[in-house]
Amino acid sequence: MPESPSHITEPARQIEVIRRTEILVVGSGPGGLAAALAAARTGAEVTLVERFGCFGGNITAVGVEGLAWYRHEATVEANGIGREFEERAKAMGAAVPESQSLSYELDSEGFKLVADRLVEEAGIRPMLHRQFVAPIMEGDRITGIVTESKAGREAILARLVIDATGDADVAHRAGAPTRKTPPEEMQAASVMFHLAGVDKSAFMAAVKADPQTYKDWSTGEWTVETAGKEDDMYSPFLKKPFQKAIEEGLIPAHLSTIAGTWGAVHDTGELTYMNLVHLAGVDGTDPDSLTQGEIEGRKQAMLAVEALRRFMPGCAGVRLRNFGMTIGIRDTRKIDAAYNMTEADVRNEARFDDSIGIYPEFIDGYGVLILPTTGRYMHIPYRAMLPRRVKGLLVAGRAIGGDRIAHAATRNMACCAVAGQGAGVAAALALRSGRDPDAVDIAAVQAELRRQGVRIG
Ligand SMILES: Cc1cc2nc3c(=O)[nH]c(=O)nc-3n(C[C@H](O)[C@H](O)[C@H](O)COP(=O)(O)OP(=O)(O)OC[C@H]3O[C@@H](n4cnc5c(N)ncnc54)[C@H](O)[C@@H]3O)c2cc1C
Repeated sequence: MPESPSHITEPARQIEVIRRTEILVVGSGPGGLAAALAAARTGAEVTLVERFGCFGGNITAVGVEGLAWYRHEATVEANGIGREFEERAKAMGAAVPESQSLSYELDSEGFKLVADRLVEEAGIRPMLHRQFVAPIMEGDRITGIVTESKAGREAILARLVIDATGDADVAHRAGAPTRKTPPEEMQAASVMFHLAGVDKSAFMAAVKADPQTYKDWSTGEWTVETAGKEDDMYSPFLKKPFQKAIEEGLIPAHLSTIAGTWGAVHDTGELTYMNLVHLAGVDGTDPDSLTQGEIEGRKQAMLAVEALRRFMPGCAGVRLRNFGMTIGIRDTRKIDAAYNMTEADVRNEARFDDSIGIYPEFIDGYGVLILPTTGRYMHIPYRAMLPRRVKGLLVAGRAIGGDRIAHAATRNMACCAVAGQGAGVAAALALRSGRDPDAVDIAAVQAELRRQGVRIG
């Protein structure tokens, strides 16, 4: 028997160019969707490529419905396209009041239609079901991408590319330096699910009889640092039914990580955005790790459902309505940007001359929870979206440059939308002025963002 080779050589082949576009946005989560809309509204011709069958990223593909659960009386925000997501969802019957804040919770299914409508109205060319697999490079400049789909490999050429894949897939493969959190330090991954069959009044009566707070997040498995002011505030948090299930032997003791928040309870009996399963060490850039995470996550979710049936009032008759289409990943690669945001920036109301929008002081992740109840806010600098070494490319969404605690702020969906809108406007104006993104007239970008309703300073 000849020895089996460890590698094969893929033969060179010709790939059809199926589209030429001014601005190509890859990935359609809150970052990419905002980028595509902003670029189109600034007058550019835009193509939006997405590997799944719907736009919306984690909102629609994972079922993350809490867009602005940080909002309180004094919160100061950028508004712009992030706020528009919420307002359009409300107007289209795809949002309900959120239980812990002055915001609306998105309906992850309904938001698919909201995103379709926004894309259509802006005249963006939609390209679903195509996965980015390789950049097309001329020296250090990206000039397009290769996609893989049921149609095989195809090429799309672009004058500028915005990487909004969440994982900085495009930047990484194009040769821009990125930093990936070591898997053992990554924020947990979650298999999300939604339930049907809850008795809303019995459930809400139990929640009101024993209100949980953000301080309760710290009991047991995790310790969460707050600013103190969060400690006594209500949180839609569930832990006691799972503790009981462990005591009764229904959930194995080592799964004390099963706990977390619920999103919305509907009159029709759905209990949605069940954020209860937390899987350590799942690397969202490794398909074997993702495979394990999906299967283990579904097992744990069903243990959680059984525990709710047995130990949570109003849940005796619940059944699984659906899992998210894919496991929820919080933390992978971030670019090493022209400027990497720091913990000090997000904790101390950073101000930048190249601000493309503000974000309230909302820090959620790596054991920190600070809510923007005081009106404090930070600037998001344009340079955090500029990768090194690759020309013609911007990065929006959760992969922008920053350290761990900076990421705990910038990864949030409304902040991804701020970055996306900034990237979209900058790309369109760079193109119009014949400059590279790293030489764009930042004052013109800020003026256009203001015109689009974004608070910059
Ligand atoms: C379980 C969970 C709960 C969370 N809860 C909250 C919350 O309550 N509030 C909040 O604000 N944030 C929350 N987050 C964080 C937030 O959802 C993400 O940080 C945010 O969605 C990132 O936005 P994005 O646009 O960068 O990427 P994503 O939302 O991940 O979108 C990326 C898009 O790119 C597509 N894509 C990826 N790779 C390719 C490729 N190679 N080719 C083509 N398309 C590609 C994906 O399919 C996806 O549509 C949560 C995250 C998770 C996982």
